[in-house]
Amino acid sequence: DRLIAANKTEREEQLDRAIRPLRLADYIGQPVVREQMELFIRAARGRGEALDHSLIFGPPGLGKTTLAGIIAQEMGVSLKSTSGPVLERPGDLAAMLTNLQAGDVLFIDEIHRLSPVVEEVLYPALEDFQLDIMIGEGPAARSIKLDLPPFTLVGATTRAGMLTNPLRDRFGIVQRLEFYSHDDLATIVRRSAGILGLPIEDAGAFEIARRARGTPRIANRLLRRVRDFAEVRGRGQITLDIASDALDLLDVDACGFDHQDRRLLLALLEKFDGGPVGLDNLSAAISEERNTIEDVLEPYLIQQGYIMRTPRGRMATRHAWLHFGLTLPQHLQQ
Ligand code: ADP
Repeated sequence: DRLIAANKTEREEQLDRAIRPLRLADYIGQPVVREQMELFIRAARGRGEALDHSLIFGPPGLGKTTLAGIIAQEMGVSLKSTSGPVLERPGDLAAMLTNLQAGDVLFIDEIHRLSPVVEEVLYPALEDFQLDIMIGEGPAARSIKLDLPPFTLVGATTRAGMLTNPLRDRFGIVQRLEFYSHDDLATIVRRSAGILGLPIEDAGAFEIARRARGTPRIANRLLRRVRDFAEVRGRGQITLDIASDALDLLDVDACGFDHQDRRLLLALLEKFDGGPVGLDNLSAAISEERNTIEDVLEPYLIQQGYIMRTPRGRMATRHAWLHFGLTLPQHLQQ
């Protein structure tokens, strides 16, 4: 498995339980999101109402699930979690909905992957807190209508563009999470180290932060691997040298790139002269699925300014050529 993959793993979920922030005050970074959510939550609580349905979008590992949990905690209600692919049939969603207490938060991860029939059931539930569902088949089939308690849907998605318009229109609050700054990630690393009882120097925390692709989940994962290194090769203390040597050994370079990023960038530079090249060609050149390139590899490379998306395909920027010490092509040389 890829050390710097932003996707969650089961085992990690367990480890994360201890370090996942539970209150808005511990949610580091994302100042705009935090300030807005604090205001919306306080207002809803003041009125004694459920919070408006909220959509959170952003690349994996940036804190969507964490924020959903915080919303429930700060509203003083329970959180019920599920995900788009798990809700296969309308009955699956009905079971979740009829289990909610007034004000509860229903969290649907990967909400862009809901099937159309399930989405149909969700609309009246969101709009009028009504469950309207067919049970049975053939002549015995009948439709059932039920009143639901007012609740808050929190939907998370990595791609806002994949949501249908009617679904998107039903969210009163939409928050977009951004990649984290190195300073914010260093704070997250220090906080996690504190909870896990790991001695860490500021410079060590910053080194981990710098290589964590702007992503808290990766920062926490790198911290665990650096801890192993510190315990075996050092004296347990995470210093700058320990962090830097550990991450070099783990093949995470100074920009947080690993061999997969380098393979993608090098293919773009060397096989396609820096592009533009279509996603399909790029995908064939490095034997990597389109989706993996689009969802996992590219967002950070684009955000860091190594790759550009253009109407004619992907293009390498100056940064990319310089990163590998290659000579800049004519059109980039001024
Ligand atoms: P997503 O749902 O977007 O994939 P998660 O909410 O599961 O991401 O976040 C991954 C991990 O990163 C969490 O377990 C949590 O420990 C940490 N994390 C995420 N956002 C923050 C934050 N703002 N402050 C501190 N830790 C965070």
